[in-house]
Amino acid sequence: MFRFLFYTSVLLILFNACTSKDTADVIILNADIYTVDAANPYANALAIQNGRIKYIGTTEECLKLKGKETSIFDAGNSFLMPGFIEGHGHFSALGESLQILNFNASRSWDDIIGQVENAAKNARPGDWIIGRGWHQEKWIEQPEEEVFGFPVHHQLSAVSPDNPVLLHHASGHALFANLKAMELAGVQLETPDPKGGIIVRDISGMPTGMFQENAEDIIMYAYQSYLDDLDQDELFNVWKERINLAQEECLKKGITSFQDAGSDYKMIESYKKLAQNSELQLRMWVMLRDNYKKMAPVADKVRTIGFADHYFTCRAIKTALDGALGSYGAWLLKPYNDKPGYSGENTISLETVDSIAGMAFANDMQLCVHAIGDRANREIIDLYELYLQKSDSPSALRWRIEHAQHLNPDDIPRIGELGIIASMQGIHCTSDAPFVVSRLGEERAKYGAYAWRSLLDSNVVIANGTDTPVEDVDPLKSLYASVTRKRADNGLIFYPEQRMTRAEAIYSYTLGNAFAAFEEDLKGSLTAGKLADLVILSNNLSTCSDEEILSTKVLLTMVGGKVRYQDPEF
Ligand SMILES: [Zn+2]
Repeated sequence: MFRFLFYTSVLLILFNACTSKDTADVIILNADIYTVDAANPYANALAIQNGRIKYIGTTEECLKLKGKETSIFDAGNSFLMPGFIEGHGHFSALGESLQILNFNASRSWDDIIGQVENAAKNARPGDWIIGRGWHQEKWIEQPEEEVFGFPVHHQLSAVSPDNPVLLHHASGHALFANLKAMELAGVQLETPDPKGGIIVRDISGMPTGMFQENAEDIIMYAYQSYLDDLDQDELFNVWKERINLAQEECLKKGITSFQDAGSDYKMIESYKKLAQNSELQLRMWVMLRDNYKKMAPVADKVRTIGFADHYFTCRAIKTALDGALGSYGAWLLKPYNDKPGYSGENTISLETVDSIAGMAFANDMQLCVHAIGDRANREIIDLYELYLQKSDSPSALRWRIEHAQHLNPDDIPRIGELGIIASMQGIHCTSDAPFVVSRLGEERAKYGAYAWRSLLDSNVVIANGTDTPVEDVDPLKSLYASVTRKRADNGLIFYPEQRMTRAEAIYSYTLGNAFAAFEEDLKGSLTAGKLADLVILSNNLSTCSDEEILSTKVLLTMVGGKVRYQDPEF
């Protein structure tokens, strides 16, 4: 039981005389602490003052900091470590995923149709029905009609004739639309595929409802114009509700900082407002993301570091070079193993990405480029190298590759030499495991896919995360995948020789992510002077069995010395 103690030791009487500046606001005692600080890895107690760690070490020393107003917590010998930092997720989309239809658990197209049918019954005519998380590879039965393994819209259009339907693919790189949505978007037989995108068509050339990569924009524009017509205050309230849902979800799962992989300038301003009004309960570190033309005019004014007591920072720009592997959007050096002659897509041209890189460099912003296929990764390493040569030292920039999923083994040492951060998602490895070998073939999968061991051995800093809402934001599931490369559901293991050790995985989720954000002096380890962002768990993640990682419960989450989540039983 984690409880407030009315501590009445002799020490208390002795040290009541301390001046308030020397006393702690909060002291946590009887904790099994793993600090992630190599100089002082273990401790039993810590003292917090003004939201920062004042002292970490022994109970005896901590109690010297006790004053009249100090709250004392007894952790009951539970495991305590730095709060998890989500290294790459989509915060507002996470909140939205908790508001809309969620197909993560759907095992058939019929199940999805059923859920949309229900939603359509309750919707006003014209309202859009939004869903996400469907993935054809998860289905145990195939749809009646299919083209390239994807369903065709007829059934979906029949259950929702008056409401446009937009269902985001789990990869985040494709969507499915019904007839009403396609009509509103003006999609016809003659509509051409946009550059970097595919409208999937049946044998007669009719769009099936599936829009991949840049083709998503066709439907998204129609949805956006519907949103633009809505009352702006109503929209802001919907967004705020999303943010609250996302915060609640993250804090419950032990996350104290969130690295958001892309928000536009307007949303960044909204986050800042929330931070200023103390409405953010965890710390946001946001990448600016938009098209080049929209980013250019704001690039020199968006950089914000440590705003509102380090609750908001924007010091990075995000862009993308390719799509996802599941939907054949990853840009490969050689064709897909299961789609001969096709090597994926370059979604944003290298010229544009170069312009964005120049903008990041000129404004002292980190650049974070989404690259999944080995071709996309090689192109971005080549581009980063040119900019890194202009800087004092490679680690001065800490530019990141988001995902870095499929690397040519020749490129791995270069990532280390150039000081590029590999921002990867442990859980993607096991989620993708069932189809990686068919897409890439044995050789590429074995030596280049989610190559954590090879990267770590090349001195690369790996940042870890989930890409939520693509995956559950739960760091424990991603940590389990990082140390086992084993699927929790069916035991499938994906090339275990590339596993991280327990210490490496914990580091990747704490200090590694902090380093990837220039925040290692503030976060990522429990060290005197750093922010008091921490988590108390039911198991010791350093020593428990692999399976126990998955049954670990978050007992308490603290941000800046404030309890933001507490398990009712703790
Ligand atoms: Zn992402």
